[in-house]
Amino acid sequence: MDAYEIAVIPGDGIGPEVVDAALPLVADAAEEAGFSFETTRFDWGTERYLDRGEMMPDDGLDRLSAFDSIFLGAVGHPEVPDHVTLHGLLLPIRKGFDQYVCKRPNVLFEGIESPLRGYGSGDIDFVVYRENTEGEYASVGGREHRGFDHETAVQSALFTRRGTERIVRAAFEAAAAREGHLTSVTKSNAQAHSMVFWDDVVEEVATEFPSVEVERLLVDAAAMDLIRRPHEFDVLVASNLFGDILTDVGAQITGSMGLAPSGNVHPDESSPSMFEPVHGSAPDIVGEGVANPLATVLSWSMLFEELGETRAADALWTGVTDQLADDDAPRTPDIGGTAGTDDVVADLRSRL
Ligand code: ATP
Ligand code: MG
Repeated sequence: MDAYEIAVIPGDGIGPEVVDAALPLVADAAEEAGFSFETTRFDWGTERYLDRGEMMPDDGLDRLSAFDSIFLGAVGHPEVPDHVTLHGLLLPIRKGFDQYVCKRPNVLFEGIESPLRGYGSGDIDFVVYRENTEGEYASVGGREHRGFDHETAVQSALFTRRGTERIVRAAFEAAAAREGHLTSVTKSNAQAHSMVFWDDVVEEVATEFPSVEVERLLVDAAAMDLIRRPHEFDVLVASNLFGDILTDVGAQITGSMGLAPSGNVHPDESSPSMFEPVHGSAPDIVGEGVANPLATVLSWSMLFEELGETRAADALWTGVTDQLADDDAPRTPDIGGTAGTDDVVADLRSRL
């Protein structure tokens, strides 16, 4: 029997609420599927920052590196600027473990209403592969600056062949395993170096995947089409900045932040991947016991999938799908119900 070691960072706000609620359920799913895992908790986040001026200890990455995977609840605090949570915890982990794929499935589940008129259950099902380590968020040898006259500012972007090829290839592999359709999102008409380079790489990698149909969209058209015809997408691949924006569009058109899972993935086993719900710490509902735990459960499903534990991954995903489709099942207020976090998890546990 395989026993995995998983690092758990419950984090801030509703992070610990959804993480603690979901843990017994995901342990059940593992046991059902014939494996187990040990968790080690790290109390890193904004409380620690307010206390000691750091989100995590200096040797934080070393301590995480031996784990098979990392689960993060949420980080954020109304009195701590976003750049502190980003640069103090999230980015060091993403970069330190070279988690170059940010993977966000966008599924409109049966029983969930989309804000888009005419869209119902199952109509939307695509996944975004966002480049997670370079592009518009990379620093290019200190070239970025604010002009000393305060009249100009320079921001660069870095696209390497290695970095572009590996995210594009990961997306092609995903498309080949799904519906065989890949949409590459760029802005090649305006960004004649970086994005044309990206296009060239897509064309090269495409020759390895003759079964995958490739569509190219400019990011403005992609934003429009995600609203106009979201049912036609299967896998989208985009740079760091464009992927960042499009994944938020995706989370909204599929119903609720409380349902959106994500993974920051380093595809081989040389370093751990990190899974987390897309939502943040949601300070407005902390302590009320009404946080939706389903984004967390779905993120655990993705974690199991990445470990190769497909049975447990499917059981969790199917459990959530069945629960949402059942009119009589408990729901949290964000998706139109009156139930609490624990009721939802208890119901889900009875369905496994
Ligand atoms: P942070 O600064 O940590 O990102 P935030 O204020 O941006 O926090 P988010 O958590 O990103 O808040 O989500 C925005 C809003 O969506 C929340 O204020 C909350 O009302 C709602 N929300 C987010 N996640 C959930 C959830 N799991 N269950 C219910 N409602 C949620
Ligand atoms: Mg937020």
